[in-house]
Amino acid sequence: MHRRTLARIELSAIQANFELAQQLAPGARNVAVVKADGYGHGMTQVAEALSGRAAAFAVATVDEGMRLRASGIDEAILILEGGSSADAFAAASEHCLTMVLSSEQQLEHALKVRAPVWLKLDTGMHRLGIAPRDLLHALDSLRASDIEVQAVCTHLACADEPGSAATLQQLKLFQDATLGLKLPLSIANSAAILAWPQSHAEFNRPGIMLYGASPLLNSNAADAKLVPAMTFLGEIIAVRSIAAGESVGYGARWTAQRNSQIATVAAGYADGYPRHAPCGTPTFVHDAVAPLVGTVSMDMITIDVTDLPGTRIGDAVELWGRNVSVDDVAVRAGTIGYELLTGVSARVPRIFNA
Ligand SMILES: *Cc1c(COP(=O)(O)O)cnc(C)c1O
Repeated sequence: MHRRTLARIELSAIQANFELAQQLAPGARNVAVVKADGYGHGMTQVAEALSGRAAAFAVATVDEGMRLRASGIDEAILILEGGSSADAFAAASEHCLTMVLSSEQQLEHALKVRAPVWLKLDTGMHRLGIAPRDLLHALDSLRASDIEVQAVCTHLACADEPGSAATLQQLKLFQDATLGLKLPLSIANSAAILAWPQSHAEFNRPGIMLYGASPLLNSNAADAKLVPAMTFLGEIIAVRSIAAGESVGYGARWTAQRNSQIATVAAGYADGYPRHAPCGTPTFVHDAVAPLVGTVSMDMITIDVTDLPGTRIGDAVELWGRNVSVDDVAVRAGTIGYELLTGVSARVPRIFNA
């Protein structure tokens, strides 16, 4: 490794966040969501760190599930998107992956394969799931083919908004549809684990909170006692003095108001730092905040270190982590922590700390 831009992953933080999910919902078993390469943290390493603790793992696709299975994970693996072909269902069955069925077509595939499934209801998100009125019919056809339904689940659209009426309505629809079923239920994602205790059920499905970012609007991870698991670091590769009135970066969008010290950091949007982060977005050098100045380039950013006179070439800069919240950077860049974490590119080596 000749470029010291990296993402340091604290697996113990992920374990602590998992424990928090358990404490918040003592009656639930947690399915750890590790799709999209563990939200950018390394799917197999995250799963290994939670193996023996998580009731199951969840990924989006059969291919992700196959990779996780190949890495030696023995727990159940849920495929949240299910699959769209007979081949996908055959592969899932061959690798002992549990499909989440959310359409009539998927039900047809499942009836041929006969592996255990989860069944998903659309209670208002209108993305995936069968209509509540079709639930009993679907359960009958699965039962007739001796297919085990391990859980009935749904997904909330507005769990990140405290007190949302839409969430109350989804919860009510789900409760009515599943009344008297005697099957395990699953509703809660991270936001619901943190903010909607009435949604906690046999299985919860924490994702983003495991990585120490906040799923809630107007709140940050620290409020919820979550520990950020990723520290995204860049290295200072140049420091220069510029005079008041001079500009920095593409488009000359930032102009120094005073004589300034500008450090160039080896991390840009090709590494996953958001191109739309505005001037003033915090980075952290030594013990202090240094604001982003100028436009984010593909491989570099520039930061104002005028007030940090000890700054040198070779110093590490935290782009997000324990000192700069990924949620804060995300809000400034007009996005969410999920997008930043999953967007750290393959060019950035992940370094794992137990
Ligand atoms: C991604 C996903 C989750 C996890 O959501 P977070 O907001 O990251 O906790 C849970 N359930 C389903 C169906 C998902 O697709």
